[in-house]
Amino acid sequence: MRPSFYMRLINGPFEDPCLFVSFAFEKRAFLFDLGDLQKLSAKDLLKVSHIFVSHTHIDHFIGFDRLLRIVLGRNKTIKLFGPPGFIANVEGKLNSYTWNLIKDHSLVLDVLEIHPTVIKNRVFCCEKGLLPGIDRPSAPFNWEIVKAPRFSIFTDFLDHKIPSLGFRMEERFHVNMLKEKMDALGLTPGPWINRFKQALFEKQDPNTPFFVTDQQHFPLGELAEKIAIISPGQKIAYITDVIYNDETRERMIKLAKGVNVLFIESAFCHEDQSMAARKYHLTTVQAGNIAREAGVDSMQVFHFSTRYMHAGHMLYKEAKDAFKGLGNDQ
Ligand SMILES: [Zn+2]
Ligand SMILES: [Zn+2]
Repeated sequence: MRPSFYMRLINGPFEDPCLFVSFAFEKRAFLFDLGDLQKLSAKDLLKVSHIFVSHTHIDHFIGFDRLLRIVLGRNKTIKLFGPPGFIANVEGKLNSYTWNLIKDHSLVLDVLEIHPTVIKNRVFCCEKGLLPGIDRPSAPFNWEIVKAPRFSIFTDFLDHKIPSLGFRMEERFHVNMLKEKMDALGLTPGPWINRFKQALFEKQDPNTPFFVTDQQHFPLGELAEKIAIISPGQKIAYITDVIYNDETRERMIKLAKGVNVLFIESAFCHEDQSMAARKYHLTTVQAGNIAREAGVDSMQVFHFSTRYMHAGHMLYKEAKDAFKGLGNDQ
């Protein structure tokens, strides 16, 4: 099965975190956290449409300036999601520059600040001089923060002495095209494939005629049966900067339940678990246990404390052993 999206942590485990998720066959990508973005090319940054920030400690938000610098002159709308205080954090960044010559630019930053019961929204438009932002009506928060035809994004509040948001991204289902069956019908790959998938995700009536070209059309349902296999969609979760306790454990397991890949911090080694708790972070073993209990297919740990700079392999091993159910409890 060809995946619908590809994920990669763009930095090493001791650097400031950022997860880049790019869609296959589309110039579109998401970022989870805005740590150090230097390793992302301008081409990749220009694909970004949605950004999900766990919290605004400097190691998770310092990349905002690089992003802004790259997208500034572009005709783009970027949605940014973050925890309470996020609108003021973005505004503070924007306030640190002078914006008198940007009114012919068309960049829009649509900032959504997530609270336990409500999502606040402020929009910053270059056309309006970027500052001040324009408030939009708030919306209720019910853990699903993006609902698109193809996928949803969910978030929950984790405890890092401040709220830190954990995220789950879930493709509704996966459409795999059968090349040989397409050949048999004389259909050549092209932009129609995305239209075709979109029609399936939108659950259009199976009897609707689907136009592959102006001349060639089939009932949508019939075509789907002939040239596509529908299977469960991809799922990932991103969890960082959180203390381990009964409540956060339950929330983390819910976010990560059954995902294909769980990206989870493991800042400290097992032996240093009391320090991890003092600093509101996870240990390797806690991360591995969460992954195992959530039944994930695979786990990638990241965001190691620099105190282990020369012992990264030990942290990977502890987390992996816990994920496999070997070794320490808790
Ligand atoms: Zn933090
Ligand atoms: Zn951090």
